[in-house]
Amino acid sequence: MLSEFYFDNAATTIISPEALKSYSECALEYMGNPSANHREGQRAHEKLEEERRLFASKLKVKPEQLFFTSGATESIQIVLSSLLWAKSPGEVIISKIEHEAVSSWSGILKEKGWAVKTLKAKGGFVSPEELEESITEKTRLVAIMMVNNVTGAIQDIDTLVKVTRRKEKEFGRKIFFFSDCVQALGKIPFSLASLDIDGACFSSHKIAGARGIGALYLKKGEIQTLAKAGGQEKGVRGGTENLPSIAAFTSAYLSCPEDMSDIEEIYNETRKIFQENGIKILSPETNTSPFILSITTPLPSEVLTRMLIDKGWCVSSGSACSNNAKGKGEGILQAMGFSAKDSRGAIRISFFHYSSILRAKELAEEIIKIVREF
Ligand code: PLP
Repeated sequence: MLSEFYFDNAATTIISPEALKSYSECALEYMGNPSANHREGQRAHEKLEEERRLFASKLKVKPEQLFFTSGATESIQIVLSSLLWAKSPGEVIISKIEHEAVSSWSGILKEKGWAVKTLKAKGGFVSPEELEESITEKTRLVAIMMVNNVTGAIQDIDTLVKVTRRKEKEFGRKIFFFSDCVQALGKIPFSLASLDIDGACFSSHKIAGARGIGALYLKKGEIQTLAKAGGQEKGVRGGTENLPSIAAFTSAYLSCPEDMSDIEEIYNETRKIFQENGIKILSPETNTSPFILSITTPLPSEVLTRMLIDKGWCVSSGSACSNNAKGKGEGILQAMGFSAKDSRGAIRISFFHYSSILRAKELAEEIIKIVREF
């Protein structure tokens, strides 16, 4: 089976049979546009709201705080573009380890007069002290991801939000705390409400749902957007709702187990093989996601990934995006304090529940063999 050799699940996962079933059943059974007045429109609308209720209930948020979008990139765009409505530009703080869906906003905001401060993440983690020093009375938004997509480092969002709230009180101005939770949803436990996050984004294709569908959580349930269009999703995200994909996303999310022992076993076994054979691990030792294991070897990552690809393995060099935009994943690793050499040799192996432990061990041994031969 092809999926046995697939270890690039942080880039995208294979849609699950349950999600695919939910997609096709919904596509065939709910033909109407949820905004239409007729019976079929009404049925589609009810189905949409039922999916929202189910999703929100597992996420432990209110249905009215959850909006379906075309993916995490669009959810991020809705939040960051909302800043462009401000009467006068202020300041935003973005960690240096954000996915490009967030980091690419630096340039746009700067062009529009905003000051953009970036936070390093020594050892993989954003420092609450550095955040505290960076916030000023002009800060309007802080964006720090929950789980890094290159190393799997889980950020201390609880402390980072508390720092932000403290500064908010000191300056008497609201600061919107946004967290990209794409690599966290269904994979690590978290509570948006108790973390007191203002906005968060999610993506379906990282948890075996359909592609091109995502969600946005907004604590206040509203935001100024540029694309109100037909007023769908309460005007937060206009455009006809992708109901079959929403059904598949919800089904994939509801299928994510609480028990991660299968993933933890694959992760621990694979990590152990690398460690015992002197391969340097870039993923942190603690506070790390068991779905992402990053290593580095003396071989440039494009050489090693090519050799592995030729043998049928699917892995990624640093991050899938860095394969498209050379050097971007390396920049994230360097912001974490890794040397240019370690960053150039980075390989990301990422798991999902269908991953085979035997194949994962074989992959680790194959990497060790190639590195030894060189
Ligand atoms: N944020 C992170 C951390 C990601 O890993 C990804 C996907 O690569 C995205 C955002 C973008 O998600 P989407 O493909 O749903 O737009």
